[in-house]
Amino acid sequence: MLITERPSPNFTERKKPIELLVLHATQTETLEEAFFWLTDTKEELSSHYLIDEQGEIFRLVPEEKRAHHAGVSSWREFEKDLNSSSIGIEFYNKKNKPFKQEQIKAGLLLCQDILKRNPLILPQNVVAHSDIAPQRKEDPNTFFPWEEFAQNGIGLWPFSNKNFNLPLPKNVEEETFSLLKKIGYRGEFEVSAKAFVRRFAPKLLDTLPLDKVYQKAVQIEALYNKS
Ligand SMILES: [Zn+2]
Repeated sequence: MLITERPSPNFTERKKPIELLVLHATQTETLEEAFFWLTDTKEELSSHYLIDEQGEIFRLVPEEKRAHHAGVSSWREFEKDLNSSSIGIEFYNKKNKPFKQEQIKAGLLLCQDILKRNPLILPQNVVAHSDIAPQRKEDPNTFFPWEEFAQNGIGLWPFSNKNFNLPLPKNVEEETFSLLKKIGYRGEFEVSAKAFVRRFAPKLLDTLPLDKVYQKAVQIEALYNKS
């Protein structure tokens, strides 16, 4: 795998072992604008890698250092300083555009390589920025091919799309909220529900139908917490 060095000065020392992989999209007009934000010493932002539309991989921060990509965020038992526990990859993408095939191919190889070298990263801890900071972030975006990533051993996806036809509990909202918390979401109900469907069922994003969100949450919770 060819990696081009494009160092960012914006990193600090890790205080925790690497247990999360966080995927982002730059949401910038141009690639150069993305490099600007990820290297500007006033903003102090960075990521470990940036992948352009042609599939070129740039390394901004060495993995053993703490890059500044997660911000205020939480997921499952990770309550703060997720930057210390994670590796961050940015995919160059203008706001809400489909990703390019070459870019995704490079992303798959890079993620596989990272997971091989970092066995503490569990599949349920391969996350979107929007999963860990649902009140602030929407990236990567609803075009991101999570299913294809899971097919390649990166993260989890419900491949057997069983129709549950579960009877709805009386307190659907409460039950759904409880499932979302078990999956890992740490926002208020609506914020968590939106982040959850953005990741697993983007077609539901506009209307957020509670019965369907509940059934999806049952399916994903079982996947995420199976022993
Ligand atoms: Zn992000």
